[in-house]
Amino acid sequence: MSKVCLNHPDSPATDRCTACFKPLCDDCVLLHEGHSFCSEECISQSVRTTENINQFKLAEKRSNFKRFIARLFKFIIFIGILAGVVYFLMKKGVIKF
Ligand SMILES: [Zn+2]
Ligand SMILES: [Zn+2]
Repeated sequence: MSKVCLNHPDSPATDRCTACFKPLCDDCVLLHEGHSFCSEECISQSVRTTENINQFKLAEKRSNFKRFIARLFKFIIFIGILAGVVYFLMKKGVIKF
């Protein structure tokens, strides 16, 4: 861990960039939504990453829901087949309740 600013070797680093972890002094820190950054590029990169993570989470949520529906359908079909088999066996007199 470097203790001096990357841009000013005689200034002590007080913070680091949230995106690239570069050590930064007070003069170099750019604040964006409460996070420290070294450059505009890192800010936009971080914004993109956050957006990607949110999109990924959203996609994951959606696919979880789809999986749940698919499982529910399989379960309903299974119950339907089971009921059909039981009905068939009852009709044939194989099992009696
Ligand atoms: Zn950076
Ligand atoms: Zn600096």
